[in-house]
Amino acid sequence: MKIVDIRTFLMQVDAPNLRSWASDGSFGHGKSKKGLTGTRNWLFVKVYTDEGIVGIGECSGWPRVIETAVQDLKSILIGEDPTHIERLWQKMMSALMAHGMLGTVGGGAMTGIDMALWDIKGKALNTPVWNLLGGKMRDKIRIYAHANTVEVALDLKRRGITAIKCGGVSDPVKKVATLREAIGAEMDLMIDLHGPPWLTPADAAQVARALEPYRLMFVEDPIAPENLDGYRRIRDAANVTLAGGERMATIYGLRDLIEKDLVDVVQPDTGRAGGITQMKKIAAMAESHHIMMAPHSGSLGPVAEYAALHVLAAIPNGLILERIEDDWAGRAQTIIPHPVQKDGYLDVPDKPGLGVDIDEEFVARFPSECNVSNPGKSTDTSYASGTFDEHVYVQTRLRRGVYFAKD
Ligand SMILES: [Mg+2]
Repeated sequence: MKIVDIRTFLMQVDAPNLRSWASDGSFGHGKSKKGLTGTRNWLFVKVYTDEGIVGIGECSGWPRVIETAVQDLKSILIGEDPTHIERLWQKMMSALMAHGMLGTVGGGAMTGIDMALWDIKGKALNTPVWNLLGGKMRDKIRIYAHANTVEVALDLKRRGITAIKCGGVSDPVKKVATLREAIGAEMDLMIDLHGPPWLTPADAAQVARALEPYRLMFVEDPIAPENLDGYRRIRDAANVTLAGGERMATIYGLRDLIEKDLVDVVQPDTGRAGGITQMKKIAAMAESHHIMMAPHSGSLGPVAEYAALHVLAAIPNGLILERIEDDWAGRAQTIIPHPVQKDGYLDVPDKPGLGVDIDEEFVARFPSECNVSNPGKSTDTSYASGTFDEHVYVQTRLRRGVYFAKD
């Protein structure tokens, strides 16, 4: 079998609602002519073969830029046998190396193609991708959703969700206390402390200690991801389960976080960490350190989510999958079939390959316009000190007193 073509499908994801993630700020100076307010893009990749088998993948990690990277990589992949996945991954990695450290952009480009190669192999062998990864550890994958208010949390609970995460907060302890009281002890609760502005390690350690009584599943991204020594300080100071790693790609990017035991839960992003090939290896590295894996979501779309289901089905240390419920009604129309959440779980797909395809006509209705997060409010040029609107990556969060407010 030979690769004969690679095509990309880039789309603007329509406006996320208020429950959605941090990149939902308006781009430009308000709504676009189509009324879009979100800046999120999804990039799908199809790899075509001379035997008529077509594989699908998805790239997150800055989709508009990655589209060009994928088209560059196409030139070195045409004519190759798509079933030699590891060989082609190594070829892509070597090809991209001249651009410097790859990060999630290079990782995202390799991810979409790698994912499509696994899809092709599964279809060629008439078996699901999880079977190629060693078979099933589980038949369904537990998910968690986002909730920052009691109202949203209780709505999710009514709909069967068993775990929620709050985040982006200036008053984390109060928020966690309020949510824990509302949802009870049986539901799992998490918090994502990410910036900017980031907490300092000293502040994050105090916050982590204050969160100890609430028995969180994990405390995510307590400080800037580059500050690995800071992770050690938090770890030594507080008895909470730490999670991180969504902004890192490949086994090389995640190596220190895992090998230095800086987290209990590693969160590679299935759309940009380097593909199914890397997700499986990262999981194995984590397993050897008794670290669980909970793939990041939010930036990625529905095809990468499928890939995450296959990975989580096959690895022993799969903890839970992040999933933003209700992020965009069009998510369900983008792919066929759409996974259905039931009792807080998604079924593991059982069709050959990944078991998913995109509706190309639907995707084409949403051409990409913009793909960058506005770090503050769209119209805010106050650069208010100590807030997101200051637009400073390295700075200390102010108003420290509210971190520990309980009422
Ligand atoms: Mg996060």
